[in-house]
Amino acid sequence: MPAITNKQQLLTQCQAALKKRFPLAVVDAPDEPRPLLEELIYAACREGSTAADADAGYARLRKAFIDWNEVRVSTVQEVGEVLRPLPGAGGRSKRIIGLLQEVFEDKYSFDLSELDKKGLKDTARKLRFYKEGVTDYAVAWVVQRSLGGHAIPLDEPTLRVLRRLGVVEEGEPESLEAVRASIEHVIAKARGPEFTDVMSVHAKELCTEKDPDCPACPLNRDCPYGIEHLAKKAGDAKPKKSR
Ligand code: SF4
Repeated sequence: MPAITNKQQLLTQCQAALKKRFPLAVVDAPDEPRPLLEELIYAACREGSTAADADAGYARLRKAFIDWNEVRVSTVQEVGEVLRPLPGAGGRSKRIIGLLQEVFEDKYSFDLSELDKKGLKDTARKLRFYKEGVTDYAVAWVVQRSLGGHAIPLDEPTLRVLRRLGVVEEGEPESLEAVRASIEHVIAKARGPEFTDVMSVHAKELCTEKDPDCPACPLNRDCPYGIEHLAKKAGDAKPKKSR
């Protein structure tokens, strides 16, 4: 069977199993689409976290500051305190302030709506100019969630799960963009947002960085890392023969 079909089948099965295991992981789109700048700021909260945690952090940010200019002129510590307990709050705060500063210097406002009308590829290319605040994940996020295109944002927790599943090679020499393109090739556009949401919750709840809970994982029969991990645990648990 061609490798691409194997990868596609594996990820399809994984997504279905995770959706069943974490039915609340999939989050509906907001009633009103967020303007482009706000979607980028939301992406800075969402990368490396779950939808629920990012929603809560983003809501605290909106509540604590009058407008985006007040966020821009605040310190990293002040914004970070508002974002906490979102993990990596300090780094996210630095990124959000950096983005607002870059946009302000470029546009003398916080309005990126002009970029919104440029067409998908051009908008994505222009967003990458904001190097302080825009990562590959953020560009893929806005393509998936607000620009109506097909992209799968890949953050570190999602990549960890994909590596353990053997879908992304350990120490893969390709660039992140190349890895993302290979995943986008096997996940249909309509399934993209759900894939992103369930992977994030799985990475937080079961496939944690340290000591993943493989015995409780619905993917453990198809996951090379999980199979090895469980076999080792079973070996460790066997009583030692007395001589
Ligand atoms: S079996 Fe273990 S390593 Fe594999 S996806 Fe599940 S939790 Fe992660």
